[in-house]
Amino acid sequence: MAFKLYNTLTRKKEVFKPIEKGKVGLYCCGPTVYWHQHIGNLRTYIFEDVLKRVLMYNRFKVMHVINVTDVGHLTSDADVGEDKLLKALKREGLPLTKEAMLKLADKYFDEFKQDFEKLHILMPDVWCKATEHIPEMIELIEKIEKNTYTYTTNVGLIFDTSKFKDYAKLGRLNLEEIKEGARGKEDPERKHPSDFALWITNQPNHIMLWDSPWGKGFPGWHLECAAMSMKYLGDQFDIHCGGKEHIQVHHTNEITEAEAATGKKWVNYWLHAEWLVVPKGKMSKSKGEFFTISDLIEKGYDPLAYRYFCYTAHYRTPLTFSWEALDSAKIAYENFKNRIIEMKEDLVSKPKDNKYQEQFTAAVNDDLNIPVAMSVVWNLIKEKDLGNKEKYDLLLDFDKVLGFDIRGFKRVEISEDIQKLVDEREAARKAKDFKKADEIRDKLKEMGIVLEDTPQGVRWKRA
Ligand code: AMP
Ligand code: ZN
Repeated sequence: MAFKLYNTLTRKKEVFKPIEKGKVGLYCCGPTVYWHQHIGNLRTYIFEDVLKRVLMYNRFKVMHVINVTDVGHLTSDADVGEDKLLKALKREGLPLTKEAMLKLADKYFDEFKQDFEKLHILMPDVWCKATEHIPEMIELIEKIEKNTYTYTTNVGLIFDTSKFKDYAKLGRLNLEEIKEGARGKEDPERKHPSDFALWITNQPNHIMLWDSPWGKGFPGWHLECAAMSMKYLGDQFDIHCGGKEHIQVHHTNEITEAEAATGKKWVNYWLHAEWLVVPKGKMSKSKGEFFTISDLIEKGYDPLAYRYFCYTAHYRTPLTFSWEALDSAKIAYENFKNRIIEMKEDLVSKPKDNKYQEQFTAAVNDDLNIPVAMSVVWNLIKEKDLGNKEKYDLLLDFDKVLGFDIRGFKRVEISEDIQKLVDEREAARKAKDFKKADEIRDKLKEMGIVLEDTPQGVRWKRA
């Protein structure tokens, strides 16, 4: 079945063809580790995880790289402003030293990896930190410089975008409009508003500075991704992803750097995720209205209920966050879980021809249409003509993409007190003391436990 992905570069769904048969190089722009990642950021990583899982489902061997930005991401896209990590040191009242900065970056990186585990996001093959790849970045700039794309201003070494003929291609940018806009205005020596810094030298008090042919300084943020992705995936690779706000500047500039250095087309498929939105617009740290996975856990949500919530919208449509919407997803996820737990406890076999596998594959191979794939899953769960064993085997296969780990779904252990009440009720029922049995059932219900009498005996589940 043809596997199609929507490519931002062509604005079309295209049949995916890897550079090397059976293999995929996948680069995902990672976090700037200066604060908690919110559930909006994590929506993008869940989408990327689904992409990776669907690639693997189609039997591709995936080499997955995610970067960690621990230097060089400034508060303004115009290569001015404060390093976000420096801002974080001040926010947390920490000493303004290199050690404190690296420690802070590690703290938020660890938290991010824990979020991955909680959400069942598969870890990449390579995590690469910007501060550990400065020589590769300098080498890449040297190639760009050799190809005569650079000039110097007070800010540092600048890329001359007018010399790169395809500058507008990813963002379908209107360069005239950019001229009128704010881009580049903070650096009056800049020749064109879309020009951007490769190496920044005008912040002598920056905590992390490295020697370079252009003076002591630090790399521009876009350069980090270009240099690190090429180190691990080569001068040309298959897929590059990120949030949609990266199309116009960050990814445009990454392409410009890579292709100016090598003279070759760099990445074949660009995939961009729509945002998680709140009434004010994009959920973002700067707007202040954001929630983390820890916030969700504190409020009693299973992180996987959030993963399930993300499956209610296609990755290229905005998803509106509200507690009510999350509650609906939570109920649906619990229902999903309970149905599968019950199925597993009664694995009778009744084979019958069915189209679920085909329908599921068609949905995920159609530009990762997970909402449709989930409707196939629900139709399968509700199917009356197929045995539980056949259904469960299919669900195990679909779970390679969905990532819920349904094999691990089990009834939640109940405390000794509750077990004692369940046993007492069972004894009352056997003794035909139905009044007492009903009283205990009501008491358990108040505690959030629902009992079901089945031919196999009494079963309980959380309400
Ligand atoms: P940042 O740490 O801000 O660079 O963001 C990390 C990733 O999360 C990037 O790919 C962003 O595009 C993405 N992102 C940020 N905010 C949102 C949001 N509200 N919804 C979805 N993705 C987001
Ligand atoms: Zn990037």
